[in-house]
Amino acid sequence: MPIYEYECNKCGLVFEARQKFSDAPLQECKECGGGVKKLISSTAFTLKGGGWYEQGYSSAAPSTCSKAKAGECSKVG
Ligand SMILES: [Zn+2]
Repeated sequence: MPIYEYECNKCGLVFEARQKFSDAPLQECKECGGGVKKLISSTAFTLKGGGWYEQGYSSAAPSTCSKAKAGECSKVG
């Protein structure tokens, strides 16, 4: 779930909100209720605690490959 950053137009507070893609953007500052604007942050899509993706390919086969031959699994991805 991506994390969005918002900045309050009233008090200047910058805060993060974890939302689904389908969620509507926040309209109010959580502190003062003022209007907020969404900030574009490059960190929003960073996978925290990551590394699982690369490690999954290098060390362990995905669960969907558990019944397949090792040679077959290596072709996946
Ligand atoms: Zn505010």
